[in-house]
Amino acid sequence: TRSEGDVSSRVVSRIKTAAQRLTDQHVSLAVTGLSGSGKTAFITSLINQLLHAPGQQNLPFFEPQRDGRLIGVRRDIQPDLTVGRFAYEAAMQGLTTSPAQWPASTRGISQVRLQLRYRSNRALSQLMSETRTLTLDITDYPGEWLLDLPLLSMDYEQWCQQFWLAQDDDNKRELSRGYVSHCDVLLDPAQRNEVTVATLAEDYRGLLLRYKEKGYQLVQPGRFVLPGELEGAPVLQFFPLPESLFHQLKDDPIFGLLEGRYKAYQRQVVKPFYQQHFKRFDRQIILVDCLSALNQGLHSFHDLRRSIQWIMGSFHYGQGSLIKRLFSPNIDRLVFAASKADHITADQQQNLVKLLDTMVSEARQHLKFDGVSSEVTALAAIQASHPVTLNIDNTEQAALQGHSPDGSVRTLYPGDVPTACPSTDFFKQQGFSFPAFSPPVFDAGQPLPHMRMDSIVHDVLADKMR
Ligand code: GDP
Repeated sequence: TRSEGDVSSRVVSRIKTAAQRLTDQHVSLAVTGLSGSGKTAFITSLINQLLHAPGQQNLPFFEPQRDGRLIGVRRDIQPDLTVGRFAYEAAMQGLTTSPAQWPASTRGISQVRLQLRYRSNRALSQLMSETRTLTLDITDYPGEWLLDLPLLSMDYEQWCQQFWLAQDDDNKRELSRGYVSHCDVLLDPAQRNEVTVATLAEDYRGLLLRYKEKGYQLVQPGRFVLPGELEGAPVLQFFPLPESLFHQLKDDPIFGLLEGRYKAYQRQVVKPFYQQHFKRFDRQIILVDCLSALNQGLHSFHDLRRSIQWIMGSFHYGQGSLIKRLFSPNIDRLVFAASKADHITADQQQNLVKLLDTMVSEARQHLKFDGVSSEVTALAAIQASHPVTLNIDNTEQAALQGHSPDGSVRTLYPGDVPTACPSTDFFKQQGFSFPAFSPPVFDAGQPLPHMRMDSIVHDVLADKMR
């Protein structure tokens, strides 16, 4: 009868839904890198490429698209309502106005959820012409926050010592001079109070921002430069005492105040980030802006390399590691990507990959040992230049063309990329000047122009879309 038919079709549909739930997949993808490394541009492009992907050919290396198995992609409500929403619409609006603007950079943690509907290519699923859904959560967070992990194994005194030891070059000492002399205010017992602590903490924050401006990358605590929702909170009001004052103040209550704030920072800021967010990530992309560091000079490049080593502490999953003591990690795949690869010509792309590879090769050995697979690549999330050929003295020379920040057309050969860190002499004599470009002009109905976003999308998603 009709009602029996209705019941059985409802049962079949329920079974299908339940089976669907079992086969549906979920990936929590995190994107990080130091400030200016290109996280916002990358996530904007990633969302844009995926939203355009069904039925298009913008991601030729991404197997589900290439095989025509991607049916639809849409945004969904993000799972964690306490975390900011990634500002995709605002980013796209800036990129499509005239003159186009680069999106506002990452300031804290934010999230976006996409649903990708696709046809499975497994034999049994194909037989049932089964469609599945991959839920993709993308989280953006500052790489500076990962520089704080080593703080968990240091007490306040050790942290102060680290600050003194880091004053190992003249430029840095010169930058720090003002801050160090301001701290002398504490010689006056009447000034040893919370108000002075807040002022000196602000001075210390100013110092870290000046370091960053000059290309130094290793700043601690990371939240001082990118406080996110903690802007102005007392938990960020502490600073390292200069060596000259440390021993004089060690038994003073002001020392206890600073030490207490430091401990609160460890307990209430550093640890919760790992326990509430980091432990949920399945896959991680680390963006590295090698070219800007080369532009800034040897000190910047060295600092970048050391920052990556520190950042990688958050991915050491071996027994007894700090991370393992905090929680059991989930990340099974990590991609290191040299960003802004549209700043160099096609013949230099491989060099850029090699340069990054030498910087992370030791870290990759650790990852392999811990069972985490890793890749190294170079990409342009939003390609702002295109290749041209120049004829110089009857010789063809590969070059780039794009727009300068002032809007004029710029054609240039940006120079060679070294495959390893160049010598001090090289930096003294010649240095590097890889160019910056304005965002590209593109048709708003079309996907953003990019370089190798497809291979990264393939690396982090394709195995979950079989
Ligand atoms: P974040 O601080 O990591 O979020 O960095 P952003 O994504 O804001 O990038 C910082 C700046 O780098 C941007 O404003 C652009 O000037 C530049 N940039 C980022 N990605 C690209 C890219 O793919 N190509 C080019 N040409 N420039 C980029």
